Amino acid sequence: MGLRERVRRLAWGLGLLVLAASAGGAWGAPAEVRVGGLRVQESAERVRVTVELSGPVDHQVFNLKSPDRVVVDLRNAQTSRRLDSPPEGRILSGVRSAERGNGDLRLVLDLKEPARARTFLLRPEGSAGHRLAVELEPLQAPARASFPPVRPAEPPPRNVVVVIDAGHGGVDPGAIGPTGVQEKRVVLGIARELQQLVRQERGMRAVMTRTRDVFLPLRTRVAMARRHKADLFVSIHADAYEDRKVSGSSVYALSPRGATNEAARWLAERENAADLVGGVKLDDKDDLLASVLLDLSQTGTIEASLNVGDRVLRELRGVGELHRTSVLQAGFMVLKSPDVPSILVETAFISNPDDERRLTNARHQKSVARAILAGIRRYFDDYAPPGTLLAARRHVIGQGESLAAVAARYQVTPDALRAANGLRSESLPVGRVLRIPADRGS
Ligand SMILES: [Zn+2]
Repeated sequence: MGLRERVRRLAWGLGLLVLAASAGGAWGAPAEVRVGGLRVQESAERVRVTVELSGPVDHQVFNLKSPDRVVVDLRNAQTSRRLDSPPEGRILSGVRSAERGNGDLRLVLDLKEPARARTFLLRPEGSAGHRLAVELEPLQAPARASFPPVRPAEPPPRNVVVVIDAGHGGVDPGAIGPTGVQEKRVVLGIARELQQLVRQERGMRAVMTRTRDVFLPLRTRVAMARRHKADLFVSIHADAYEDRKVSGSSVYALSPRGATNEAARWLAERENAADLVGGVKLDDKDDLLASVLLDLSQTGTIEASLNVGDRVLRELRGVGELHRTSVLQAGFMVLKSPDVPSILVETAFISNPDDERRLTNARHQKSVARAILAGIRRYFDDYAPPGTLLAARRHVIGQGESLAAVAARYQVTPDALRAANGLRSESLPVGRVLRIPADRGS
């Protein structure tokens, strides 16, 4: 047998098979099927129309265009009820039914867009009887599938929060100068000036513990700093001493000893302590572990506080004399937030007649505020908290990039850029990270 002969025989055999298959439906015509209700389920990807039947049914499915519709012919079937058109969906706009003269029942599924139809018969199961399921799948995938999967957006960079605390207030006047000037009044003046300056800073936000002459418990001030998720807490005071000759500014951070005592106190107040240490819940740790965790947190905080204090102190040097040239440490209550770098600025000795007079001077108050801000700015230049606008102000030098170009890009002067980065020469090595100063011309 030649090749041609074999192919012919094969084709003939296949033809017979096809004939048998198509004839099968007609020869084995089932008894009349009654069609009950319709159910429509729609998901994002497809619609399923379920037709309730009294028994298995022979059927044919095909698509028609203009308008798009899917036709399902049910052999030897009828319905005694008008099939309710289901509510409109994304793909399906309605269902119609009609009995054809030959005993068939025709279902027409009207579509809003071209869809591929698949059908399958379902056997009785539980309370459900025989069913025909028609699944419609749009030829075009849903529009949103053509976009990359939606990723949670990164939060936009935030401002650093500076909590400004004017010491004393209300029934507590603080220290009183030789001519009767009250500490609570002058420090509020300086705090307000500082608030104005912080407000003008790009990337910073100011929160005042008090803006009026009111009494605030120390713990309330600490609580405010924590509630506002402060990045820095600055308490403003004026010192007093029995020797009226003593004068000048000083800056304090918390002493480790004060911290240790306070840690014990925080631990005693378990409700407060629960979220103190970077999300570590203290209530299910033993006391020793908890105190170690809290200690570590506060050690880092004190270090940060010393860093801010140092910079503020250096700036205050330009305003008047310093009482002490390094940051002092003491157990001030307001400095005891375990997780907020905190400093206390003794702006001057109100007990010194010269200092007292200058403290009441609006221009001097402004100068002190400006110095504190400059120190704060330098601190955030070096230690911008991640996720803040200030942290975003870093620039990596690219090939052939000039100082002037970088300065222009960030709207700062080349001098400010040079000063902020301690640059002496004009050449910028590729890959060098520049700190962009937060304010032009500083
Ligand atoms: Zn004070």
